[in-house]
Amino acid sequence: MDDLRLKLRTALAFAADVAAETIWPTRCAVCDVPGELLCADCARKLPSIDQCLACPTCGAPYGRVQCTECNATVLAAANLSRFPLDGLTSTFIADDATRRIVKTYKDQGERRLARTIAKSIALCVPPAWLDQPSALTFVPDTKASMRRRGFDHARELANLTAAMLGCDCLGLLERPKSIDQRALTRAERFANMADAIELCPAIPPLPRVILLDDVCTTGATLYAAAATLRRAGIQQVFATTFCRVLD
Ligand SMILES: [Zn+2]
Ligand SMILES: [Zn+2]
Repeated sequence: MDDLRLKLRTALAFAADVAAETIWPTRCAVCDVPGELLCADCARKLPSIDQCLACPTCGAPYGRVQCTECNATVLAAANLSRFPLDGLTSTFIADDATRRIVKTYKDQGERRLARTIAKSIALCVPPAWLDQPSALTFVPDTKASMRRRGFDHARELANLTAAMLGCDCLGLLERPKSIDQRALTRAERFANMADAIELCPAIPPLPRVILLDDVCTTGATLYAAAATLRRAGIQQVFATTFCRVLD
């Protein structure tokens, strides 16, 4: 009987998939052509950051030899004595195509794109970050964003990426305040984020954590999250994002 029920459920799920595909065919998130979530042509044209040329500290494209984004002068101007992360890497530059992928995933309900995004993030994490036990974590959505979207986009990406990298995914951070950063200026983002991210109660002792987010805009969210994690005694905090906004 259980076997029959399972077969019936599988058949119904298949029929539902076929019906959904007929009514709302899968389309490329970038060019809208029916067929795949991200067509091969658009995937090939995405603006990858060449990790061999990028700054090993802040991930800036072409910053490996001399970085204009995390040198001592730039850090001093931002009142920082050191770069807030032990390393930051992004897979792509944020352009129309990568923004569309993120928007389609986050705000238009195409959650199947999580696997595509997670895979590209996993491929970009330097192996050296994983040479000792590391846990992946994420900056959770605010409660308002969770209500609007119906899911925590960063948690979903972090879970998938951790599984691909073979490490644990832990929820270590909380966002008790609902601040939507998107409409804010750079200075406002830094000021707002400084105390907006808090530690979950009773986090386990961890030597190293890799923070994951979809987009690095100014770095404010990642820097604030890193400061919070360091206050819990975590020595090394790396971060990785799907794409990175260039000034
Ligand atoms: Zn396409
Ligand atoms: Zn740099």
